[in-house]
Amino acid sequence: MIAPFLLLKLRYNGALCYFKAKPMSATSFSSLNLDSLLLTAIEQNNYTTPTAIQIKTIPPILAGNDVMGSAQTGTGKTAAFVLPLLHKLLNTPKKDEPGIARVVILTPTRELAQQVFASFEKYAQGSNVQGALAYGGASIGPQIKALKTAQVIVATPGRLLDHIVKGSVVLSSVDSLVFDEADRMLDMGFIDEIKRILRHIPGDRQTLLFSATFDDSVFELSKKLLKNPELIEVDKRNSAAVEVEQIIYAVDEDRKRELVSHMIGMKNWRQVLIFTRTKQMADKLAKEMCKDGLKTESIHGDKSQGARDRALQNFKEGTTRVLVATDVAARGLDIPALKYVINFELPYIAEDYVHRIGRTGRAGEQGLAMSLVSIDEQWLLEEIEVLLDTRLAPQWLEGYEPDLNKAPKDNRKNTNKARKDRDKKRITGKRAPSRRRK
Ligand code: AMP
Repeated sequence: MIAPFLLLKLRYNGALCYFKAKPMSATSFSSLNLDSLLLTAIEQNNYTTPTAIQIKTIPPILAGNDVMGSAQTGTGKTAAFVLPLLHKLLNTPKKDEPGIARVVILTPTRELAQQVFASFEKYAQGSNVQGALAYGGASIGPQIKALKTAQVIVATPGRLLDHIVKGSVVLSSVDSLVFDEADRMLDMGFIDEIKRILRHIPGDRQTLLFSATFDDSVFELSKKLLKNPELIEVDKRNSAAVEVEQIIYAVDEDRKRELVSHMIGMKNWRQVLIFTRTKQMADKLAKEMCKDGLKTESIHGDKSQGARDRALQNFKEGTTRVLVATDVAARGLDIPALKYVINFELPYIAEDYVHRIGRTGRAGEQGLAMSLVSIDEQWLLEEIEVLLDTRLAPQWLEGYEPDLNKAPKDNRKNTNKARKDRDKKRITGKRAPSRRRK
């Protein structure tokens, strides 16, 4: 049974960053004027109340407006755009033009594409709207077949472009285009693919853009893509503080693995997602944890899609106890009721910390995010503090206290001046400059 409220994750500008969506009793799904087929699907999914993002986003999308929404995965965001787009599909006559596709949803990663597609299938059940899923690393034949009859396409930019070039899809009848997790799409350098895809989609379309963060580069992109968009932000006043507990342990680099295995074993944690910065570290750690007697698999961009799907499935089913992932691979993963996230290494991009710990505490569940911080990562922790505008004080775990004689490696971010700058930003509430890759 799904909880009647959801976590709304994260507003960066000031104050805390986790919110629980209050059930908004004044608005029900039936008052949103959605097609009765969709109301039945909603009921079958046991959704009793729309979440804040759904309440705010569904009406302007139904009205045909462009929308720029700030929301993360985990807030009910997918239904917020899939439901009204399906409503429009069900209630607008087919176009008399080549190309059957009417809606394109772009996502940065295969995992998110799979997740969005699964939601689309849930909400489209009982209708005759067909969909296709297209992402790289999987064989292209079945995708070509599905694209022939699909009105809704969920795709990663690179693979969609492959299909356009091959001629397996025509987008000239598309009237709605969605960018999901636009910030991550920019991070992953998809801008050229996006520009090329846009040449094949009519300009008089409706465009929706969702992003966890709205920094300059996302705004820049939105200016090119959207026409008079409605800016939708979930109101903090409708929210109550929660529920992902964050623990920071200061520990020496070479003792991190030992600490993690000890913690998982001692506390008997059953399903733990661990983040590393690199693929190599993900593999190495998974191997070592197996030697420690904890069934562990890794998931990252060098693994085939089949291997990634299997690892995720094993993890969800509980056959593996620990999954070690890199940031890109983990983006968009929806693991129901995941309780524990461990940051084995802090990310170089502070925003990734938020995405990482957002894997837990979903749909009203409690979550714990434990971060291991070596002396060389202290500056990364400070950048996260600036971003979140909150203090994350490190603790010591008995038996794993850091060696205080160790000095941090030379690094321009570790100088006293850099530290003072960060302190100043924290005090004045100015965020760290975005470290987004251009
Ligand atoms: P999303 O943010 O789209 O990844 O959704 C996160 C989770 O919330 C998914 O498991 C959805 O099935 C679930 N969900 C979406 N909308 C609602 C709702 N109105 N009530 C309860 N659960 C929901």
